[in-house]
Amino acid sequence: MISVESALELIDGAIEPLPSITRPILDSVGYLLSEDIRADVNSPPHDKSVMDGFAVRSADVAAGTKRLEVIETIIAGGWPERELRPGQAARIMTGAPIPAGSDAVVMVELTQVESTDAGDFVSLNVDSLEPEKHLLRTGVNFAKNQTVFSKGHQIRPSDIGLLAEVGAAKVPTGSKPTVAVLPTGNELVDCNQVPQRGQIRNSNGPMLIAMARSLGLEVTELGVGRDDSEQLRSLIETGLESDVLLLSGGVSAGTMDLVPGVLAELGVEQVFHKVKVKPGKPIWFGVANRGGKQTCVFGLPGNPVSSLVGFQLFVRTAIKKLMGGPANLSKSLVGELANDQQTRGDRPTYWPGQWVEDDTSVRKLKPLLWRGSSDLLALGSADGLIFFPADCHNNEAGKPIRFYPFA
Ligand code: AMP
Ligand code: MG
Repeated sequence: MISVESALELIDGAIEPLPSITRPILDSVGYLLSEDIRADVNSPPHDKSVMDGFAVRSADVAAGTKRLEVIETIIAGGWPERELRPGQAARIMTGAPIPAGSDAVVMVELTQVESTDAGDFVSLNVDSLEPEKHLLRTGVNFAKNQTVFSKGHQIRPSDIGLLAEVGAAKVPTGSKPTVAVLPTGNELVDCNQVPQRGQIRNSNGPMLIAMARSLGLEVTELGVGRDDSEQLRSLIETGLESDVLLLSGGVSAGTMDLVPGVLAELGVEQVFHKVKVKPGKPIWFGVANRGGKQTCVFGLPGNPVSSLVGFQLFVRTAIKKLMGGPANLSKSLVGELANDQQTRGDRPTYWPGQWVEDDTSVRKLKPLLWRGSSDLLALGSADGLIFFPADCHNNEAGKPIRFYPFA
């Protein structure tokens, strides 16, 4: 059985990223950059005031000259017409360019203007004035040609301002995969039904759909597949029209676990089956290449927490690779274990956990009461999954531990 790390490497090797496309800036959120983005301007583009006030020469104030002739008014979007000479000031607005000769701005609240027949004069209520006060020099935020985003960065709404500032009206991005979801099992009924004898509600279908949608992906719902080769074949054929097909159930060793066989018949090439991980061991992954169309197929184990862990570890990674990113796990955090926790077996375990705060306001990670792969109750209060390595069964309180938050 392969390790999680080997499975991730196999996913990386088996998947070709989807094509890169240039998208209008507002359509680029959620996509990964397919190229570095460089600034086509300096920021700020000119020396500018960060206050409404008066542009002055700090040397005047140092020499005791604090009543100055106002020679012009510079507004944002305008441009200074004159250079400041000793004894002169310019009224200036926030964002407006600093006139030549000026090296500081005095905020309007510290000034008093007097209008005379000889023009306006401003008195500065300051004892001293440092050069560079309240102004920003050209390019101090970033310089023209500087790389402001690197290839592979996932664009967030908060990035759009910077993209706009550097003129990235069209953004080079990867693509998002389409996803089809097919839970399988004779025992499954819809969540709007009352399960009869032997039946359970289909948890995985809605859960996988929601998780894929939360990544901004378009999802096709294929309904529920029965443990019947004919029907599975037809539903899987439809699923192969998407970029990713997520099956759940039917991938273990039971006589009704028909999924791997049907996938093989349809020419979906197995990359791995079974990973040393708890929960989620029976996971199946393969790739179909039909008529130039690549589909990544995951057979997730039927138990809902196994499906969830499989999605978090492997499906998300495959999706990231399809979108043009690296095939690695989502970012983990490190926290301190809140209490002792025993684990069993020879597989690394991903355990539902919650952030808790003790009386010293230190946030710690508490493993929740959890009965295993069929127990979804703990997930309701979990913030994510705590990682317990395989080689340690007695995890003591206070131990630093890795945590994978739910997105
Ligand atoms: P399987 O992988 O098909 O052997 O299923 C393993 C366990 O997960 C069985 O107890 C199934 O009843 C359960 N199961 C399978 N599919 C689902 C599903 N979509 N929702 C909830 N439980 C499921
Ligand atoms: Mg089954």
